[in-house]
Amino acid sequence: MEIFHISAECYPVAKVGGLADVVGALPKYLNKAGHHAKVVVPGYDNKWTNENEFDIVHNGKLKLGWFYFNYTVLQERTGKLGFPLYLIAIPELFDRPNVYSYEDDTERFTAFQIAFLNWLVESDQYPDIIHCHDHHTGLIPFMVQQCYNYKRLAHTPTIITIHNGQYQGWFGFDKMHYIPNFDLSRTGFIEWGGLINPLAAGIKSAWKVTTVSPSYLEEISHSANGLENLLRFERHKSVGILNGIDNEVWNPKTDPMIIGNYTLKTAKKGKEKNKAFLCEQFGLDPSKPLFAFIGRLVGEKGADLLPEIFHNSLREHYEEINILVLGSGDTFVENQLNSLKPYFEGNYNAYIGYNEKLSHIIYAGADFLLMPSRVEPCGLNQMYALRYGTIPIVRRTGGLKDTVHDFGDNGFGICHDQASVFDVNYSISRAVGLYHDEKKMKQILNYILQIDHSWEKAAGQYIDIYNSLKPL
Ligand code: ADP
Repeated sequence: MEIFHISAECYPVAKVGGLADVVGALPKYLNKAGHHAKVVVPGYDNKWTNENEFDIVHNGKLKLGWFYFNYTVLQERTGKLGFPLYLIAIPELFDRPNVYSYEDDTERFTAFQIAFLNWLVESDQYPDIIHCHDHHTGLIPFMVQQCYNYKRLAHTPTIITIHNGQYQGWFGFDKMHYIPNFDLSRTGFIEWGGLINPLAAGIKSAWKVTTVSPSYLEEISHSANGLENLLRFERHKSVGILNGIDNEVWNPKTDPMIIGNYTLKTAKKGKEKNKAFLCEQFGLDPSKPLFAFIGRLVGEKGADLLPEIFHNSLREHYEEINILVLGSGDTFVENQLNSLKPYFEGNYNAYIGYNEKLSHIIYAGADFLLMPSRVEPCGLNQMYALRYGTIPIVRRTGGLKDTVHDFGDNGFGICHDQASVFDVNYSISRAVGLYHDEKKMKQILNYILQIDHSWEKAAGQYIDIYNSLKPL
């Protein structure tokens, strides 16, 4: 089958979070299973696109409201990512380094979706499946079915995967003219709560809705930032599929980003090497357990709780633990995390910013990874941690609930129920106890290094869905 994945992010082309990791891996595994999966993302002006070579495969023009934009479709020349990668370059809108957070994001991503469909129609392409990811591509299932310009695609099955239902891409009806002509009696398909809601539009019009873990599918029927009733209504066509991880990129045996590779047999020594590097870089003590947090510093991840959690645990276990943070986001949280540094020098440090290489070294060198998330649709960090032999400390929610089991219940992680300072401090204390139980630690390390979260299984589940949608 020919499957187009269309997304705002794709690793290593443009990454903000887990969406990129999924879109950069799933198509590769679909292709390994014999399909023709392709990825389409906007042509950002970033390091990766500037360092790679592309061929122009199509030039076109698109109309967004009263404005016209030229767009160019570029194909990555080598195919080295494991799938054909197409960039849609719309210079006025995407010649910028970042993926999101511009005032005209509505215009940017609406134009991107229109350009994608124009390209398909103008170049006579009829894929078997169009697979959309998150709200940035949520108007596509609607446009394919309802816009006169794309009539020829109307029978193409569309899927939308919800990686994060908190963000929905809302915009006002004053911008409805951005969407190419359609029968106005169909306006209800794009509306939710009095606004145009691209994620809701995708959920209403797509043939299938998937979420990135089974537990997240359950949870969003009760709490989905206003979409819960819609999701309950569309439950019959929804499936929760746990994300995989790209075992080729995330492999302690071969990972070029970490300090010394390791296998199951050499894990203890290998991890110590990475920990020693981190401790040297960040002024920490390698003889103490290292707790780490990696992620966006936002409420969803429980990041606002971190400063108080760290303050409490560092006071309680002052001589016993190290804490290292890698993240960026809410400026208030960033400042608070920075302000802890002088008080706990030698036991605590924070790197505020985005650093892919450092994230790999932390997964490899930390003893415990903290994820006190309020919302976690799947969560990849805990799976990376397991793959590198680091014990996750997680709140039981979404994908965390599906992937981590408490060592007290014969599992291998540390789990708590509330996203509260108390629960996390208590979990850190349990972890300190566990760290000093060498036998148990060894047993857990051995176990987690062998857990298989590779994409093969999840890719198979997506293939089953694609097959079920194939026209007879
Ligand atoms: P989300 O997509 O909600 O941010 P996920 O757990 O699905 O969360 O994915 C997060 C991904 O982003 C992981 O690959 C993680 O390592 C990476 N990541 C997050 N913040 C940073 C950072 N500051 N530096 C490097 N990698 C980061």
